Amino acid sequence: MMTASLCLGALAAPANESQDDFRYTDEKFADIQMLRYCVKGFDQLTLRQKTFVYYLQEASLAGRDILFDQNGRYNLRIRKMLETVYTTYKGDRNSAFFAGVTEYLKRVWFSSGIHHHYGCEKFQPTFTAEQLREALQQVDASQLPLAEGQTLQSFCDELFPVIFDPAVMAMRVNQRDGDDLVLTSASNYYAPGITQKEAEQFYLSRKAPADPTPIMMGMNSRLERNEFGRLTERVWRVGGMYSPALERIVDNLLKARDYADSPEQQRVIDLLVEVYRTGDLRTFDDYTIHWLRDTQSLVDFTCYFTESYGDPLGMKASWEAIVNFKDIEATKRTEKLSSNAQWFEDHSPVDSKFKKEKVKGVSAKVITAAILAGDLYPSTAIGINLPNSDWVRRDFGSKSVTIGNLTEAYSKAARGTGFDKEFVIDEPTRKLMEQFGDLCDDLHTDLHECLGHGSGKLLPGTDPDTLKAYGSTIEEARADLFGLYYLADPKLVELGLTPNAEAYKSQYYSYMLNGLLTQLVRIKPGQQIEEAHMRNRALIARWVYEQGKKDKVVELVKRKNKTYVKVNDYAALRTLFGKLLAEIQRIKSEGDYEAARSLVETYAVKVDPVLHKELLERYARLNVAPYKGFINPVYQAVKNDKGEIIDVKLDYTEAYDAQMLRYSRDYATLPWVNE
Ligand code: ZN
Repeated sequence: MMTASLCLGALAAPANESQDDFRYTDEKFADIQMLRYCVKGFDQLTLRQKTFVYYLQEASLAGRDILFDQNGRYNLRIRKMLETVYTTYKGDRNSAFFAGVTEYLKRVWFSSGIHHHYGCEKFQPTFTAEQLREALQQVDASQLPLAEGQTLQSFCDELFPVIFDPAVMAMRVNQRDGDDLVLTSASNYYAPGITQKEAEQFYLSRKAPADPTPIMMGMNSRLERNEFGRLTERVWRVGGMYSPALERIVDNLLKARDYADSPEQQRVIDLLVEVYRTGDLRTFDDYTIHWLRDTQSLVDFTCYFTESYGDPLGMKASWEAIVNFKDIEATKRTEKLSSNAQWFEDHSPVDSKFKKEKVKGVSAKVITAAILAGDLYPSTAIGINLPNSDWVRRDFGSKSVTIGNLTEAYSKAARGTGFDKEFVIDEPTRKLMEQFGDLCDDLHTDLHECLGHGSGKLLPGTDPDTLKAYGSTIEEARADLFGLYYLADPKLVELGLTPNAEAYKSQYYSYMLNGLLTQLVRIKPGQQIEEAHMRNRALIARWVYEQGKKDKVVELVKRKNKTYVKVNDYAALRTLFGKLLAEIQRIKSEGDYEAARSLVETYAVKVDPVLHKELLERYARLNVAPYKGFINPVYQAVKNDKGEIIDVKLDYTEAYDAQMLRYSRDYATLPWVNE
């Protein structure tokens, strides 16, 4: 499960101008801002570790084509066609047509397909079918992805409706209640013509009754119909579907294996290779458990079919990879928290009957991303918590990571956007946020992840699913409140985590600003708050605002027709956070559905249209792109004349289009037509 970037850059607190000349931001197009991340500490790795990272990032990049095909069965062909126009078009490259194709291609690269990476809706090109047809006659025909014996005419007839007709493959993932979600989703996890009912029946009939350790059925295959009309799985394994990509991944995993940290980590790689070769999901569980147990290796990675958001039935997993190494300094921070977990549990404002007598060891670390690939590239998560298998989590726990160099890149990119000038009430508050904003942001995330989610307990007999649709909002609120409450605690100063008794105020201010006002800029006019994390923030901010109203703890003030958040009493604000934490924990522990529903519906859903309009207008004037993604660094292996790697160098200068074209050239593994 991934924690998406919640701050979207501009919502993060600004920080001091730094002196380093690393360029965090890169080009903008459509609704996207490209960023770069710095692989800090790579130079301090040993040659062995660097070589390990090198082969793992090669394995990661080798899977690129898979996600394009998973996201839609025409994506690889459309990508190749557009790249051919982009690189060999002989017409006017300054025309509106060419600019339109360029933007469209950049979006296809970004989304690994023709649908928006977040909203899932199909892109509408700004050029016409006629213009594209004409352009295709003026490009290097040998580079067009025509099928065997196909004419350009029939190629256009086949692909143009997919690009230009808004009704064809309109949504990558359709979740609309009442529709046949499989038939109406354009993602490529089910062969055309298979209905939702058929797919559900297929998996229902295979489900072993009351298996306490069920495999993640269906996660690594495409569901198809055989020649007799019966449904059958085509498994993603060496020798099966996506074989050329998977073979290359395996090759590089095996090269990496020689440089692994320990025999335990080699065992992890051996099991993963076996999964790639057999597609066996029991072996996948074994691999996962070994991966969980390996907490000692400095370099770690995931590189398999992982996230199920792209399948409307939530079963089939998209391919993704991340290679990373532990940020030892920053992990000391999370270790200080987890080694004091019992103290935090004992001192929380929660009723003692809802507290854990014994808090289990929490494994959380801060990591530095070295490469992002598949469903984590270019748009990425800032925190990851795996595995997804419920019983493996129950019996073996999970690995929870915060990706430190990505959060840093987001907050650096938020500087200079004018966001703080527009929305933060006064200079002293801005100063406070500049000084302590980044630090307290990270600390709040750590408290949320390491301690918040793990705290408290259910009363005996409480079904964990009783809160139903309100469950995730309540759970996120619980973790956030735990963090907010403790951020102001003298214990944090004592542990050396905050520098003084004032620093927490920066997070209190930005949390209230975001929850009461600025997060609304992510919602379209007329819509309500839907997403669980956004609901949780609105719930907390609006509840404490209402409860503290008579004492003016927090106010909304107007200056020159603009609304600002004014915090008058930070200590009282902390008391209110504690009070709400106690109530939310009670709701969770007792499974009080009615109270959960009432809190969420009262505080977390509605949007004031007048205030919303004002915020959208103020935000639009800042001209900030709402979505961000990352350009990867380039890894260059320096070899001696025996072909051995003697050093690995990093380069951060590659442009977005150059990177994408290079990947398309050097890591093209799958045929255009992959049926
Ligand atoms: Zn959370």
